[in-house]
Parts: sequence; C-alpha cells; structure tokens
Amino acid sequence: MMARIPEQYRNQRVGLEGYRVLNLDLDGVCANYRAAIAEYVVRTRGANPYELGTNDDYHFYTAPGWPIANVEDYLAVHRAAEEDHLYATMPVIPGAPQALRDLSDAHVHIRIVTHRLFVNGQHRFVVSDTAKWLDDNKIPYMSLCFTGLKDSIGATIHIDDAPHNIEVLRDAGQHVVVFDQPYNRNLEGPRLLGWGGDAVEKLLQWFDQWPQVSETAGADCP
Ligand SMILES: [Mg+2]
Repeated sequence: MMARIPEQYRNQRVGLEGYRVLNLDLDGVCANYRAAIAEYVVRTRGANPYELGTNDDYHFYTAPGWPIANVEDYLAVHRAAEEDHLYATMPVIPGAPQALRDLSDAHVHIRIVTHRLFVNGQHRFVVSDTAKWLDDNKIPYMSLCFTGLKDSIGATIHIDDAPHNIEVLRDAGQHVVVFDQPYNRNLEGPRLLGWGGDAVEKLLQWFDQWPQVSETAGADCP
C-alpha cells in the first residue's frame, strides 16, 4: 500500500501515497499583500506613504493608522485593488522563490493554499492573476487550492502568517510553521523570520523531525 513512499520519508506520510507535503500560504508568506494594499491606498486615496499604519494587528481596520474605516471599507478597497490586478503585480517576499525552488529540489511537494476567493464576483481575476504571479516569480508548485478552510487539507507541514489559521490548524493537530509578521509574534513557534539564511535548512530539519513544543511555551504571555 505504501510502497511508493521512500523509506526515509515514511514518517512524513500524508494520505496513502503522499509525503513531504508543504501547504503554503501566499499572502504574508510569499507575497507582500500589505505592501500592495499600501501602494493602492496611497495611489487611490491620497494616503501619505510615510504616515501609513502599523502591521501590529492582522486586520487593517483595527491596526492603527490605515485609512480604512471598517470591514466594509476594507472589502471595498480589497475588491477594487483585486480588479486593478493587485494579485498579478504585488511584490514578492524576498528569497521566497529561491527557497521554494530549493525545497522542490529536495522532493518537497508544494501545495499552495490560499483564501483569495473571499470576495465573490471576480474570481477570474484572482485565479488567473495568482497563476501569472507565481509563474512570473518562478515559484514551483504542484497544486493550487483556493480555500479558507485551511484545516480541511492535511499536510506534513503548513506555513502561514494569519493567527486564526495557525490556531485552527494546530487545533486540528497539524504542524504549522509561523511565518514571522508583527501581528503574529505572540504565537509560539516554530517560526521562520524570512526566506533567507538557513530557512530551507530549518524547514528540511522540521520535515524530518518536528520540534517538540515546550511544555512551558507561552507561559510568559499575559
Ligand atoms: Mg496569509
């Protein structure tokens, strides 16, 4: 039944025949969504780029300083930016393409899992622009899943930045690496500070041996 899984990867099994599966989030992990939204509000709302808000809160409308009043306003900005092909043109997070190529070369099965279809009516832009951006940035992947139900798709390791996704996945017993962002620093690791340096090496180590979570981790959190 499991003959297709090489012996050394048996402990990384996903499903019956999959192994070394990385579920990879895009926004805030590979693509700089906040920089793209910042550029959009500067361009369309006349916001001062030097006075833009912080990234201490995941939501733009609760993070101080953003010219985005509430959820409805955020969705309006997001929808307009989407139609303006934000997903085709947004900046890549430095080092991501090379690191992902290195992981792919090391037999990691990269499955992109993104919640980008959360606004109805313009999925055609989102799907085609996402595929274009991935090609343009030479990011390798074996599957592309558009879903917000991240815990519905198992993997050996997930990488995500959103606190709610990390918590849901961990509650479902999945192994999640936190991709460091100001708004997720209260969550325990393992954590990647970026894609450079020893990120690939660390990930490959975590594929082979998931680190034990300290019993006291988080004890110093208020
Ligand atoms: Mg994200």
